[in-house]
Amino acid sequence: NLSTADYQRIDAAHHLHPFTDFKALNAERSRVMTRGDGVWIWDTDGNRYLDGMAGLWCTQIGHGRREIADAVHRQMLELEFYNTFFKTTHPRAAELAEVLAELTPEGLNHVFFTGSGSEANDTVFRMVRRYWTLAGKPDKQIIIGRRYGYHGSTVAAAAMGGMAGMHEQAGMVPGVHHITPPYWFDFGGDMSPDEFGIWAARELERAIDELGEGNVAAFIAEPIQGAGGVLIPPETYWPEIRRICAEREILLVVDEVICGFGRTGNWFGSDTYGLKPDLMPIAKGLSSGYLPIGGVMVSDRVCEYLIGDGGEFFHGFTYSGHPASCAAALANLRIMREEKVVERAASEAAPYLQAKWLAFADHPLVGEARMKGLVGALELVPRKPSRRDRFAPVGDVGTIARDISFNNGLVMRAVRDALIISPPLVITREEIDELARRVEKTLDDTHAELKK
Ligand code: PLP
Repeated sequence: NLSTADYQRIDAAHHLHPFTDFKALNAERSRVMTRGDGVWIWDTDGNRYLDGMAGLWCTQIGHGRREIADAVHRQMLELEFYNTFFKTTHPRAAELAEVLAELTPEGLNHVFFTGSGSEANDTVFRMVRRYWTLAGKPDKQIIIGRRYGYHGSTVAAAAMGGMAGMHEQAGMVPGVHHITPPYWFDFGGDMSPDEFGIWAARELERAIDELGEGNVAAFIAEPIQGAGGVLIPPETYWPEIRRICAEREILLVVDEVICGFGRTGNWFGSDTYGLKPDLMPIAKGLSSGYLPIGGVMVSDRVCEYLIGDGGEFFHGFTYSGHPASCAAALANLRIMREEKVVERAASEAAPYLQAKWLAFADHPLVGEARMKGLVGALELVPRKPSRRDRFAPVGDVGTIARDISFNNGLVMRAVRDALIISPPLVITREEIDELARRVEKTLDDTHAELKK
């Protein structure tokens, strides 16, 4: 066992972290996390943090559940790895596929396993185009995504997402188009949230008309945009999108990588918003993050062609349906079902946290507080009540607040100048009280810091 400083030194010398300014990281040193239990995590110096981000939007059942370690251990001793290519499978992959067909919304009865959410979305990219080719409409190639959407870091996933920085650094894949997200706080102008919800949904209709329905293959969207800033759509948004998808011949891809497995108050964001996805990428909460695994749920409609006479689908990953990851996911889903994790989070933790969270709107630094299920955001603003004033440059105050929060023992994330929360679904009332105290202190400390 090395000292904290030793770990920081070797880490800084050799480890390039995701989504990180390497130079800034080297100047600051990382926190070295060693242990987790429930909603808590500890660093090498024994500091304890409330994990308000559930790992990275994934640890639904909390950290440190022995049952998952035991299930993975058993699987590792039995069959640590075998592939699922061609005509082989193994018990855990088959069992997990059946459980997922049961749990996910009606009509999604097939799964293509991947190692991550990004791989799931690159799979979507291929499947969508393959579907239309097999359906005899090969011109339908364009995928419509949204600004601030996040579908992963692999090339096609990043292109379908709407993160400008990723497009600038990697270049764009042809055949992808982006529309305005249902982000009333930033883009709503003088419209009411409901008016804006309709307007933003009709962006899809306008895009289809402009690009030509015969060229548009699919619309991809998260039920609530997570990494884009927890953009909870106005109530009018999804019904209007549903209407457009019903009238137009395009596939609906609902990215449930964050919203899936209980985050929004139901098993899936699609349940919360009444959506019928043609394709549904999943990851994160599928295994509560205990081991990497993702997948694409595929509807009967799409399978009608995929399982047709079209021949081989040239796509897959060594770790598609990895036995140990499948064992972790099965154990996680068993715990979630037996302990009614989703139902209890929706009826107990979510309303309790929401009441406290929405009250932060009264803080002088908060321009808007929003939350659905157990995912929320606080928009930090320099002046109230105007929604239009923003800190400049965008993002600095969010980062300051996030760092202050970490020092106050609460992990939150900053997206631009919004603070984000997405705690484990098993968080208790006492832990929510503690979380709220730490949020309040973070807001007060940040406010004081800005006045210096
Ligand atoms: N889709 C969404 C909605 C996500 O939030 C993420 C990751 O945060 C991904 C896809 C990519 O998942 P992964 O990081 O497992 O590749």
